[in-house]
Amino acid sequence: MSDLFEFNGAESAGWSQPEPSLGEQEAWSTVPEPLRRESPPAWPRASEPELVRHYTWLSSRNFGIDTGFYPLGSCTMKHNPRLNERIVQLPGIDRIHPLQPEHQVQGLLAIFFEMQEMLSICSGMDEVTLQPVAGAQGEFTAMRCIQEFHRSIDQGHRDKVIVPDSAHGTNPASAAMCGYDIIEIPSAADGRIDLAALEEAVGDDTAAMMITNPSTLGLFELEISQAAEMVHEAGGQMYYDGANFNAILGKTDPGRMGFDAVHYNLHKTFSQPHGGGGPGSGPIGVKAHLAPFLPSPIAGRRKRVADDSEGVGDGYWYFWRGIGESSIGKIQQWHGNSGAVVRAWAFYRRYGRELERMSEHAVLNANYLRHRILNPSPDTAARMHAMPLDGAPADVVKHEFTLSLSALKEAVGVTGRDVAKRLLDYGVMAPTLYFPMIVPECLMIEPTETESKEVMDRFADDFHKILSEDPEVVTSAPHTTDVRRVDEVWAARNLVLRHPGPE
Ligand SMILES: *Cc1c(COP(=O)(O)O)cnc(C)c1O
Repeated sequence: MSDLFEFNGAESAGWSQPEPSLGEQEAWSTVPEPLRRESPPAWPRASEPELVRHYTWLSSRNFGIDTGFYPLGSCTMKHNPRLNERIVQLPGIDRIHPLQPEHQVQGLLAIFFEMQEMLSICSGMDEVTLQPVAGAQGEFTAMRCIQEFHRSIDQGHRDKVIVPDSAHGTNPASAAMCGYDIIEIPSAADGRIDLAALEEAVGDDTAAMMITNPSTLGLFELEISQAAEMVHEAGGQMYYDGANFNAILGKTDPGRMGFDAVHYNLHKTFSQPHGGGGPGSGPIGVKAHLAPFLPSPIAGRRKRVADDSEGVGDGYWYFWRGIGESSIGKIQQWHGNSGAVVRAWAFYRRYGRELERMSEHAVLNANYLRHRILNPSPDTAARMHAMPLDGAPADVVKHEFTLSLSALKEAVGVTGRDVAKRLLDYGVMAPTLYFPMIVPECLMIEPTETESKEVMDRFADDFHKILSEDPEVVTSAPHTTDVRRVDEVWAARNLVLRHPGPE
């Protein structure tokens, strides 16, 4: 099999079109002159079997959570229950249009309403919008709400957003897109927020602080309430990056920690196939004082009254509810990524209160795997060139952990990237690499709650094996993948964004 574009011009095509009901001349006349093509487009032509084989071949060249272990830290690549797919493909959900009248889409509206309620409850927020389609877009949406809130109370001069140096790159990027200046504060020696550094950073110009808790080091911020108090005292708002929700769900919530706004990564916490850029869903929840600024519409609900015009009887009527004049406006077409919302809703409804076990298992698995990696048997340790250093000075972590491979680099010149590439030869996805940046030669590992002890044991054994392999073999890995190492810097500088097409 080769590239689909090489089928260009073939006779067979997997489709046919009806003859236009207008005559050819008349049909042409409906297309304005400047928009008419001079020659037919060079679209690929392929028969249906060829097309099926093409996509099946493409899918076999990919690595995904359905192929093997995918310990990509911060990304929560876990099993996606197939039940979610059954539900999202029900005709009443799959075959509807965003412009359909409310009485025809009561089911989807009910799901949206329930999801808003459930997300409010688990986060301790007052109001939720499901519109943003990624965590990063949720951050931007919430930061815009915070910005409008400040303007509404004559505090529009606040132009600084504080982020810890362990923050995900999207945090400062989203705040900067709103026009904020970023103040990065260094972490304390234990990797957590340094309250002294925060004290120095907060002031009359603080618009907000953005924090991930547990942090990207997998550490729970023990002094989060004090941090929230300091920021609030200075007149700033607290923003919670909820990408790591799967470590705390059902145990505590950002509302209790003192946050004013939060985004959820539904595709991470509540399962939804993601990676390679989507599709995702990044709803946000806010406390009441920020609610007037949310984008609209939001799903609403009221009790039906007997013999009203919309129908008879008990139950509820669901509708799209607008937000008032202070809304920041729409940030996404239609109602967001509704398929992702429905899958996450199915996951949430399936487990309910039991979601607390999800957090427990995610944390247990991360601690088990970390312990296995950091404690090789004496025999194994004797064969290894160096031990990975732990990037988190703590006895226990939450749902993920970091390792520093500096010692290995110093001993035999093998870097974190080399080990990550070599892991591909062992049939697993590489962990997150060189992030957070405060850990040198960092590998960031998140096994998630859906992996078994056997999978984690095998990973730890393979990891130890790699640390004792001939450095030549590791630095030239991967050896078994379709594509070996690519020169990323060269590729970034010489972008080819268009397929060259047939000769
Ligand atoms: C994934 C992630 C984000 C961004 O979420 P997207 O849905 O990928 O836009 C933000 N912060 C943290 C900590 C994350 O892990």
